[in-house]
Amino acid sequence: MIGAGLGGLAVALRLLHQGLDVVVLEREPEIGGRAAQIRARGFTFDVGPSLIPMPRLLEELFELAGVRLWDRLRMHRLDPFYRISWQDETRSFLFSGEREAMLQQIGQFSATDARRYDAFLAASRRIYERGVLGTGSPHDRRSSRFLELLPAVARPGALRPVDGFVGGFFQEPHVRQAFGLHPIFIGGDAHRAPAVYAALAYLQIEEGIWYAEGGIHTLVQELGRLVSKAGGRIVTDRRVTRINSSQERVRSVRTQAGEEVEADLIVSNADALATQTELLGRRASGPSPVMSCFLLYLGSRQAFPQLQHHTLLVGHGYRDFIADVTRRGRLPESVSLSVHAPARTEAAMAPRGGESIAVQLPVPNLRAGLDWETTAPELRQRVLNALEFPGGLGLSRLRDSIDFEACWTPLDFRDRLGAVDGNAFAVDPTLRQSAHVPTANRDRRLRGLYYVGGGTHPSAGIPGALLSAELTARLAGQDQVGPG
Ligand SMILES: Cc1cc2nc3c(=O)[nH]c(=O)nc-3n(C[C@H](O)[C@H](O)[C@H](O)COP(=O)(O)OP(=O)(O)OC[C@H]3O[C@@H](n4cnc5c(N)ncnc54)[C@H](O)[C@@H]3O)c2cc1C
Repeated sequence: MIGAGLGGLAVALRLLHQGLDVVVLEREPEIGGRAAQIRARGFTFDVGPSLIPMPRLLEELFELAGVRLWDRLRMHRLDPFYRISWQDETRSFLFSGEREAMLQQIGQFSATDARRYDAFLAASRRIYERGVLGTGSPHDRRSSRFLELLPAVARPGALRPVDGFVGGFFQEPHVRQAFGLHPIFIGGDAHRAPAVYAALAYLQIEEGIWYAEGGIHTLVQELGRLVSKAGGRIVTDRRVTRINSSQERVRSVRTQAGEEVEADLIVSNADALATQTELLGRRASGPSPVMSCFLLYLGSRQAFPQLQHHTLLVGHGYRDFIADVTRRGRLPESVSLSVHAPARTEAAMAPRGGESIAVQLPVPNLRAGLDWETTAPELRQRVLNALEFPGGLGLSRLRDSIDFEACWTPLDFRDRLGAVDGNAFAVDPTLRQSAHVPTANRDRRLRGLYYVGGGTHPSAGIPGALLSAELTARLAGQDQVGPG
């Protein structure tokens, strides 16, 4: 295994379950990849993912290892999942899975749209069942077609953009945005991501958004323990620099330290492009990478009860904003961001009376050629303005209360995680790219080489990474690669 992100750990567990010997080589000192954690001065921040959708996928994985998820982790279903605020607006939208609450939230903006909520859910459910599952039942994942179908679906309705699909039900702009912005959770633009990604909103509403006490990294650590307990070996600080093959079959990997580790089967959880170019020495081709993020971690001595566990701020001109960061490769004029404040749910995530504030601002990836030495301080000011400004989130005097601060730019995604273009997620979930397999989970040319994680089937995000592990392990099993 190359890489110990969520997908890498999940596939390691599944391959161990199939009786294989597994060694996981991770380039960083810690496991988890994008699901890393920063701890300092009593503040704890999840670097990347913080919303856990579809916990049943984790339940299944833990079950495979013979333990119960709910015994190992203290999980909370968030209510609401998040608040959506708009710049210079007093109204906001509390997004949750409760029907009555949702009708009330929509109703503040449009009574007509509220009457269309059930129809929207029914249509989204159809997209999920037919477009995503390819079966009649939401829980039937035995169908061999299941995972292969997302996102390469060609079902009627599933291929128009998410925004068009949502606009077929909701006309009021705020409501349309509240139900249409979900592709951003995997770095996508609702105007270009196919409507199959509307299933993201549906899945949130149906199955909830969850929080694991201690942050997402407790989940990572637990998965690491399960891998070790099942006999797997995880070696950190081991960057793989080459995949060696002969006679169209993988043979070994080489590490930066010069070691040669033999393997009959290699699964790469590394960046999709890096695996092709750096590890295999192939020409760069295939899907283009997704946008990046500017991440700001602020430890505040002061609490801000006006924050929800998750708060999204949508700036003016969101459509241009998202086009700038995903497609045009330039810094947008406005700021749209999300804030994770876990101490709202679990006080221990910040010192008493304080707040751990993790801010996520979408930005173009490194292909845009921005100078991050000068861009980072500029963005920091713009983010702090948006957080403090009364027309923004109104966290007044936040600057004065900062006790700890750190930030990640696209350079961190490149230098820490090996994402060639500093991409925060994986590949851009557009219609064209979704219709072509991002990276098939089994290499087409080299026997014994597989892929897992956000850049593979079915998509980025925690559910995507976990489902890709299931598919990859199944393919490896079908190929009947023997133990060792
Ligand atoms: C800011 C942010 C917020 C997010 N929020 C959410 C959210 O709320 N909910 C959600 O579901 N998803 C979210 N996501 C997406 C989610 O985090 C990812 O899709 C998921 O964690 C990716 O897992 P992965 O298996 O692809 O592995 P990654 O996390 O990409 O890990 C890959 C691992 O491989 C290692 N590696 C790379 N190259 C090598 C090499 N050559 N040798 C050895 N090791 C190597 C890396 O160090 C890393 O540990 C978010 C992502 C980001 C960036």
